[in-house]
Amino acid sequence: MQIDGACHCGRVTFTAEIDPGRVIVCHCTDCQVLSGSAFRVVVAAPIENLLLRGETKSYIKVAASGNRRAQVFCPECATPLFATAPENATQVTIRLGCVKQRAELVPAVQIWQRSCLPWLPELGGIPGSQEQQGFTPAQPDSHLR
Ligand SMILES: [Zn+2]
Ligand SMILES: [Zn+2]
Repeated sequence: MQIDGACHCGRVTFTAEIDPGRVIVCHCTDCQVLSGSAFRVVVAAPIENLLLRGETKSYIKVAASGNRRAQVFCPECATPLFATAPENATQVTIRLGCVKQRAELVPAVQIWQRSCLPWLPELGGIPGSQEQQGFTPAQPDSHLR
């Protein structure tokens, strides 16, 4: 399946050929911190299937095992784009949040459920609204006004 994506500011864009059956949710604590969210959703692709335009920057994450992963992001808006091996890369794991077709890409598997945030399974039962409008938090945050 052909996908395309962009960072938030639009300086980095890409296209890739992916297998839609290889979408993964990762609940590891590194993914929580690096994504700034509850979990990360990625799709793997051979590196030759990724066509990247625009300048990127990398942060090298070193795992407890010593494994090194380059976390590639837009240097302007900091959108996480993909991860890859720092040397002799054969594969990329593209961050689903910056993929235009993300709504169609349903995860096939969840990993690191050991560190899954305990409230996540209850998310569907937490009250919400279709847009920000109408949202009345108990203690309004200044950025919502
Ligand atoms: Zn950007
Ligand atoms: Zn992870």
